[in-house]
Amino acid sequence: MATGPETLARMRGITKVYSRGGQDVRVLDGLDLDVGSGELLALMGPSGSGKSTILNLLGGLDRPDAGTIEVGDTEITRLSSDELAGWRARHVGFVFQAFNLIPVLTALENVELPLLLTPLGKKQRREHAEYALELVGLKDRMDHRPKQLSGGQEQRVAIARAIATDPTMVLADEPTGDLDRASADAVLDILSRLVAEHGKTIAMVTHDPAAARRATRTLHLEKGVLVEQGTTSHA
Ligand code: ADP
Ligand code: MG
Repeated sequence: MATGPETLARMRGITKVYSRGGQDVRVLDGLDLDVGSGELLALMGPSGSGKSTILNLLGGLDRPDAGTIEVGDTEITRLSSDELAGWRARHVGFVFQAFNLIPVLTALENVELPLLLTPLGKKQRREHAEYALELVGLKDRMDHRPKQLSGGQEQRVAIARAIATDPTMVLADEPTGDLDRASADAVLDILSRLVAEHGKTIAMVTHDPAAARRATRTLHLEKGVLVEQGTTSHA
């Protein structure tokens, strides 16, 4: 299939079946999805409809039962498990609803963690991590541990960790789901800026209408089918 040069990721004919108690549950059945370079894509839909499954497949955390996934020049569905892990470390930053920071590490050390999988030396790792923390407005908190931060600040550290390696895509699964309105808005401001000012590509699962309003495109997943909800500008 011909795709525009601006398409970053292509999912085609994706089927995912989970077995539960001896029964097969077909979560996705022949799903197609394109993610454009430089978009802030919002994925919405009922709980259990397969939104996290899509993100996990796109980021190579899980594999489909059928179909192909290409990101850039790489067909990730052809990679071995080791190759996929290496690809993921270079190309994907994940942000989760529950932040998933390591409690015994400082903010700086949390952000440095994914950089340990790169060829960067100690000094460069620190510079990259400090720069990422600066982008989320938390350089002055880099010596704090997660417990010493608010939820909103923890999520901003998690975003810094996701972008520290300068990944091709950031995948955020309900990034504002556990935050109060003001903290959620601060996180959405950062995600919007990463796209508008730093050219990042972000796919975000969300239930938050405010998050969807900040998106450049919103898709609703209903019974395994993605439906477009109209296009807005993030400007
Ligand atoms: P959403 O993120 O839209 O809430 P998910 O993608 O997490 O939905 O899950 C879709 C469906 O697949 C749900 O019914 C869920 O219970 C099921 N599911 C997800 N992951 C697994 C798994 N590892 N094993 C079995 N069932 C799963
Ligand atoms: Mg989910």
